[in-house]
Amino acid sequence: MNSFFITATNTDVGKTFITCAILQAFLDAKFNAKAIKPVQTGCEICDGKLKAPDVKEYERINPKNDYEPLFALKFPASPHFSANLENVEIKMSAILRYIENHAKNADITLVEGAGGLFVPLNESENFIDVISASQIPAILVAKNELGCLNHILLSIEALQNRGVKIPLLVLNFHDENDEICLSNLDFLRAKFKGEIVCVPNQKDASIKTAAAKFSTFVKTQSKLLKEQIFKNDNLEFDKKHLWHPYTSALHPLKTHEVIYAKGAKIYTKSGELIDGMSSWWCEIHGYNNDELNAAATAQIHKFSHVMFGGLTHEMAINLGKKLLEIMPEFNQIFYSDSGSVSVEVALKMALQYQQNKNKEKNQILTVLGGYHGDTFGAMSVCDPQNGMHFLFNGVLAKQIFAPKPKCAFNKDFDPHSLDEISQIFQQNQNKIAALIIEPIVQGAGGMWFYHPKYLRGLRKLCDKFGALLIFDEIATGFGRTGEMFAYQHAGISPDIITIGKALTGGFMSFAATLTTKEVAHGISQNGGVFMHGPTFMANPLACAVSLKSIEILMRSNWRENVAKIEQILKQELAKCAKFSVVRDVRVLGAIGVVELKEDVNVQSLQEFFVLRGVWIRPFGKNIYLMPPFIISKDELVKLTDAVCVAIKEDKFRG
Ligand SMILES: *Cc1c(COP(=O)(O)O)cnc(C)c1O
Repeated sequence: MNSFFITATNTDVGKTFITCAILQAFLDAKFNAKAIKPVQTGCEICDGKLKAPDVKEYERINPKNDYEPLFALKFPASPHFSANLENVEIKMSAILRYIENHAKNADITLVEGAGGLFVPLNESENFIDVISASQIPAILVAKNELGCLNHILLSIEALQNRGVKIPLLVLNFHDENDEICLSNLDFLRAKFKGEIVCVPNQKDASIKTAAAKFSTFVKTQSKLLKEQIFKNDNLEFDKKHLWHPYTSALHPLKTHEVIYAKGAKIYTKSGELIDGMSSWWCEIHGYNNDELNAAATAQIHKFSHVMFGGLTHEMAINLGKKLLEIMPEFNQIFYSDSGSVSVEVALKMALQYQQNKNKEKNQILTVLGGYHGDTFGAMSVCDPQNGMHFLFNGVLAKQIFAPKPKCAFNKDFDPHSLDEISQIFQQNQNKIAALIIEPIVQGAGGMWFYHPKYLRGLRKLCDKFGALLIFDEIATGFGRTGEMFAYQHAGISPDIITIGKALTGGFMSFAATLTTKEVAHGISQNGGVFMHGPTFMANPLACAVSLKSIEILMRSNWRENVAKIEQILKQELAKCAKFSVVRDVRVLGAIGVVELKEDVNVQSLQEFFVLRGVWIRPFGKNIYLMPPFIISKDELVKLTDAVCVAIKEDKFRG
C-alpha cells in the first residue's frame, strides 16, 4: 500500500542497483515488497519475449519479481525518443494506472524511473510530472563525486517545487577515504531534512551489504505503515464536510478528485479527462502552463503579497500599463480579488459618481437572463428567476429589469428590439444610475448570444438619459468570443468594465474594474474618495501572473486558434441539431452551446461524460463547451462527439 519512486540525479548513478538493495532490505524485513519499472528502454528480445534489463536485476533479488514494464522499448535512449521510433505514445495516465494496480497488492512498491527527473516521456510530459501526479514520495539516488551537489540540489528543488516528499537521499559510490565525498556528505547533512544513506562503490558492495544500509529507513517505514490507517477517506470527507458550488449538504453531487492537470487534460484518480469547460471560462492557455508557473514562482521569491494601502509595486504598475494598452478607452483601474467583487466595485463607482453629480439616481437597470456574481449587489442584478432573488427578496436592492436582448448575434438586427428598454429608460430616467449587462454573451444566465447593434443602442440610450454603461466582461474577456473583448464586436465602449476569470489565465482568483477619466474624476471631485479597499487588492502574485497571461495571449495566434475552434464547434455540433430534443445549436468564438427543450440531469450526464474521458458540466437546458484555446483538433472532436452521443442516446435524462 506504500510506494516510493526511485529517481536519480542522472543516468548511470546506479539507480537499479539501489532499487535492488532497497527491495532486498524490505524483503529481509518480511515485507511483501516489489519493484516495478513502468518505462524501460533498451529491451532485448529473448526467446520471442521482450526482456527488460532492469527487471532481470529485480528477478535476481526475487524470482517472482518479473513484472513486465508497461512500456518496454527496444532502442536504448530517452523514452520519448525510443517511443517515437516504435510509433508508441507514452501516456502519463496509463503509467499512473499501472503503478496504482501494482501497488494494490503489495505492502511496498518501488517504482523505478528512467534516468533523471526531466527525462521526457512525450512532447509535453517528463518523468517528474508522473512523480508529482502520483503523489508518491521520491527516493533520490546520486553518485557521490565532484559536482554532484549541484545536481542533487537542483533535483531536490525541482521535486519540492512540485510538492514531492523526499524521505531518503542515497549517495552511491561513496568513498569513506575521499575528501570530496566526505565534504559533500557533511554539506548535505546540514542541508537535507530527510535520511541520507551512503552506499560504497559497487565493486566492493554486494546487494546484501548495500541492503543492510537501509535497515533504519525500512524500520521507520514499517512504523509509519503500522500507524497508517488503510483507508482512502478523501472523498468521504469531501462529501461530508466540504460545500461545493450550489449544492446540498445532505445530497451533494458526486465529485472527482483531481491529482494533476496539464494543457487541456485533467487527471483524476480514475483517469484523464479532456477539459471542455476551461474551469468556468478561465483556463485559456490550458493547465499548468510553464510560463505562468515561472511568473508566479519568480514573484513568490520576491514577495507574494503586500498591502496596497500606501504601498505599490512594479507588478501592479506593469499590469496596469498592459491593461490600458489593450483597453485604451479606460483610464483608472481598481484591482480586486474576484469577479463578484469587481461587480460590486463597478456598481459602487456608478452610484458614487451619480451622487457626486447631485443626482438622485440610485437604481441599476439590467436585462433579464443576466448573471453578475453571487454577492448581494451582484445578485440584485442577476436574472430574478434563474438567480437567487426568491431567497433574499427582502434584502436585495430593488433594481429595474428590461426584457432579455432578443435579437440573435447572427440574425439581421431588428431595431424594435430596443423599444421596451427605451421606454423603461424614459419612464425611470430620474432613477437609473447605470445599466449593467454582459456584452454579446449572456453566460451563466442561459448562454445566449445577442446582436452587437443592441449594445450600440444601449450606448445611445445611456448617453441620452445620463446613465453610466457598465459591461461585465468577466466571462467574455480575453478572446473567448473571437474579439479580445466582446464589446469590440460593437465598436462602442462602456463607462465601466469588469474583468476577471481568464485575467490570470485561470491561475488564481483575480479581477479588476476599469473606468474612464470622466467617471473616476467625477467620483473624486469635491474631495470624494472611492470607498472600497479589499485586503488582497492588487495581489502581486496575481498581477505577475495576469501580466504574463496577457503577454502569452497577445503573442499567440489566439485569433486564429479561436477561429479554428469556432469552425470545428460549428461543424461538429451541427450534427446535434437534427435530434428532436434539441431546441438550438449556437456557436460564437470558442463557445459552443446545445440548448435542449428540457432540463438535463446534471449528475448522470456528468458521469456519462467522465466515463468517456471528457469533462463537461452542463446546467439548466444547456450542454456547452468552452475549451482552452490550446486544445487540439482531436481533443475538441472528442468533446463534441461526447455531446452528440449523450443527446443521441438520451443520456441527459438520467
Ligand atoms: C463568473 C462571473 C461573475 C462572478 O465572478 P466570480 O469570480 O465567480 O465572483 C460575474 N459576472 C460574470 C459575467 C461571470 O461570468
